[in-house]
Amino acid sequence: MSKRWHILGAGALGGLWAARLFRSGCDVELILRDQQRLASYKTAGGLTLSEGDQSHCYPIPAVSIETCGPISRLLLASKAYDAPAAISQLAPLISADTDVILLQNGLGSQEQVASLIPARCILASSTEGAFRQADFSIVFAGRGHTWLGDPLNAMPPSWLDDLQKSQINHDWTDDIVSRLWRKLALNCAINPLTVLYDCRNGGLLEHQAEVASLCNELSQLLQACGMPTAATGLYEQVLQVINATAANYSSMHQDVTQKRRTEITYLIGYACIAAERQQLELPNLKALNARLCHYLDAHGLPRH
Ligand code: NAP
Repeated sequence: MSKRWHILGAGALGGLWAARLFRSGCDVELILRDQQRLASYKTAGGLTLSEGDQSHCYPIPAVSIETCGPISRLLLASKAYDAPAAISQLAPLISADTDVILLQNGLGSQEQVASLIPARCILASSTEGAFRQADFSIVFAGRGHTWLGDPLNAMPPSWLDDLQKSQINHDWTDDIVSRLWRKLALNCAINPLTVLYDCRNGGLLEHQAEVASLCNELSQLLQACGMPTAATGLYEQVLQVINATAANYSSMHQDVTQKRRTEITYLIGYACIAAERQQLELPNLKALNARLCHYLDAHGLPRH
């Protein structure tokens, strides 16, 4: 029997992974934040996953953080801003033999988490789409792919077999950091503008000059940070994404509309700090970040 999968964060992405691992026969245990959350989960009778017109409730075992035992494999599926606090709570249960998979979007939280534990940290970048329609009820909204890698150790972990048998589309890659940077750059070129113009992704076709100058600055940043592959053809890919997802609202737009905290610190905020560190003057990116912070202030949402 392969080792147990502990999954912290029974939200959209954590729930999607948990349900697929569980139904393929893997040993899965959800870690919920406290006894109250555990009681609500027990009342729900499990985790429901909906795909197309199929819905199924999976009775995945769960514990609260206080009652969780030692962890050998952890999927950390919280938002980026919650990851350091969540991992600190679990730190006593994590050893040098633990593998921790970090599903957070953007950059910055991964380093924070890695500095708090002795474990091997595996970084992930996913294009899968899921959302919570209610507590412990997840909708699988878009098939995609997950890239996994460890910048410190190129050896693929044995548990990739579990992902295979659970039909979680994935690849092990030796350039995960470059992929995370590329995704961050795509996000910086699209998401903040969709918030400021209150539009779907396709609405940015009316602001192509602005998008182009942002891509130019982001490419400079990627080059300066030693990520030339991530810089190549950025504007072309941004346009492709805008066209392919023209009818969609970006994740940041959805967060703002639903009055949820955004992950900007780990996206455009991270890009601006990286530019400062490189002593790069990127006026459009800086101005965009300032406009976004101002917008969040005006809408009563945190700017970090
Ligand atoms: P989500 O639905 O908000 O789920 C986050 C979960 O983390 C929640 O269930 C939350 O618990 C839990 N959590 C936070 N702090 C915790 C703690 N201290 N102890 C226990 N549980 C804790 O978020 P998501 O959409 O799955 O996103 C997770 C990450 O994946 C984000 O960085 C996101 O950008 C990235 N991502 C998401 C998608 C997607 O389609 N959803 C796609 C690609 C990447 P409560 O329920 O108790 O609040």
